[in-house]
Amino acid sequence: MADEPDPKRRRGISTLAVHAGESHPKHGSALATPIIQTATYTFADTQELRDHFEHRIDREEYGRYGNPTQRVAEAKLAALDGAEDCLLFASGMAAVTTTLFAMLSRGSHVVVTDDSYRRTRQFLHQVLYRYGIEVSTTPAGDYQAIEDALRPTTRLLLSESPTNPYNYVLDLERFADIGRRHRVKTVIDATFATPYNQRPLEFGIDLVLHSATKYLGGHNDLLAGAVLGATELIDGVRALQGVTGAVVDPFAAYLLVRGLKTFALRLERQNANAQALAEFLAGHPRVRTVHYPGLPSHPQHAVARRQMRGFGGVVSFEIDGDLDAAARVVDACRIPLIAPSLGGVESLIEQPALMSFYELTTEERLQVGIKDNLIRYSVGIEDGSDLIDDLAAALARD
Ligand code: PLP
Repeated sequence: MADEPDPKRRRGISTLAVHAGESHPKHGSALATPIIQTATYTFADTQELRDHFEHRIDREEYGRYGNPTQRVAEAKLAALDGAEDCLLFASGMAAVTTTLFAMLSRGSHVVVTDDSYRRTRQFLHQVLYRYGIEVSTTPAGDYQAIEDALRPTTRLLLSESPTNPYNYVLDLERFADIGRRHRVKTVIDATFATPYNQRPLEFGIDLVLHSATKYLGGHNDLLAGAVLGATELIDGVRALQGVTGAVVDPFAAYLLVRGLKTFALRLERQNANAQALAEFLAGHPRVRTVHYPGLPSHPQHAVARRQMRGFGGVVSFEIDGDLDAAARVVDACRIPLIAPSLGGVESLIEQPALMSFYELTTEERLQVGIKDNLIRYSVGIEDGSDLIDDLAAALARD
């Protein structure tokens, strides 16, 4: 008898991206996930209402508590990240802020690593601070400093991996271990890696955050965010989202489901394009440093190889020159568009000093680790050779 496929074997990531979370038949026998565009849901009678509140039936209630299109996207993302549960939001920052609000209270303390998305830092230092929550910042790779920063009131260890914009890679097992030993929850913003390249929950991390606006949506046409982990933790965040709002709308959820169908294909190409671009830049005389975990010269290349399938689609590099020299390179590129964001099918390029950190002086930027000559290139799914030819021409122009 021919071997039957093992039903317990986890499907491959491409199969999950296409099929996970989708049941058939769908409404109207549609193949594609329908967009259930409604603000509220009707009850046949008060008995159905009672059955709903007493959890005897599983159904929707009101749009701020979720919608059926969102449930499909959540189930797909949970399968991709190997998570028990997933909750979607209206943006990545809605996921970050609601999760932190749900897990922290007055008098509690957070340890965050230094190289992270600017708005996350801002939320911690300027907003949570006003609510009596204290924050310590430690260098991303200094595990001793992370442990030393812990206090009896510490509730959360927060980091990114790879980080934005320097592509620092955290040793997730070590980070999770510190959290476990001190009974502190660990949270990783894995926007840059995506579950194609790295699945933090498998390393013992408690919660994973994503800006789904980036690789998960993948087409630069939606805003969404996600938090994933054990149902017990996600339920607490879900309860707060029901109060504070920031739920993903059905159309964005649909775009996410649609974008995820090609997730594995896109990431495979983006990994390959970024690796080729990073190798090209590493050998270029006008480039001082390339920050890409796929290069053997990257300080955490060994960790990245151990815990990542591929090294992601963002290549950050420093030009041998000043702010204006870097700006001339950005302006001379013909394929990548100048825009904030990353992870979509179109290549994007930006100079953090002139984009996210524009209003700061050079000295202030240096204090938060942002160099004037730094360029962040988010590769799309174009032909890698075209991206390299274009960048080579831009570097030759000065
Ligand atoms: N986390 C990281 C690492 C990001 O790069 C971003 C956006 O750039 C966010 C969170 C916020 O996501 P959104 O723009 O979807 O709110």
